[in-house]
Amino acid sequence: MRFDEGRPVLYRNFSAGRLVNVRPGRVISDDDRGLLLWLARGSGVMIEVAADGRGVRDMSFAEWSTLPHRMVPATWSGPGILKFVPPGVDHSVWFFRDAEGTFTNWYVNLEERAVRWDDGDIAGVDVVDQDLDVVATPDRKWRWKDEDEFAERLALPEHYWVPDPEAVWAEGRRVITKIEAGEFPFDGTWTDFRPDPAWPVPVEVPAGWDRPGAR
Ligand code: MG
Repeated sequence: MRFDEGRPVLYRNFSAGRLVNVRPGRVISDDDRGLLLWLARGSGVMIEVAADGRGVRDMSFAEWSTLPHRMVPATWSGPGILKFVPPGVDHSVWFFRDAEGTFTNWYVNLEERAVRWDDGDIAGVDVVDQDLDVVATPDRKWRWKDEDEFAERLALPEHYWVPDPEAVWAEGRRVITKIEAGEFPFDGTWTDFRPDPAWPVPVEVPAGWDRPGAR
């Protein structure tokens, strides 16, 4: 399954079998390297909160796991980012930019590999975020991120959706090898990307965003 350039494609994250995060992207390219999506500032997104409106980072994971949840609309208010979804690997690579649109760093989001779906009017990729991340800069330096959050959740296996933490660390280490070597996609590719100002910004998440998970 390939997605046409310019097509809106939803990046959706599931946790514990629930849809918890939806971000609309525009297809920049989709080829043997993988799928490249543009998430524009001002885009409408959906995010899961507790029934009382608090977010997952406003409380302990233990409390979060016992509360009822709901999805609410929000706006992507940070700088736009490119999300690169390579095929057959358990991570995606996000290209962070500053307010002027200048590339600053990569953010490697460790996640169960993307499963694609296409409903005709709307299409998407579904992932399962594994919390641990790697942040890397153009000087080939890197650091782990959210190890504490990962550990906190692993301590509650009855609520957590990551069965094999060692596999997540191993995937991170594979990516770090590429970062240190300056290999694609950490070789400068797409760091000069500039969105066309004429592209429409999807201020509302399109209908069909809540269809069942593809995996
Ligand atoms: Mg993460």
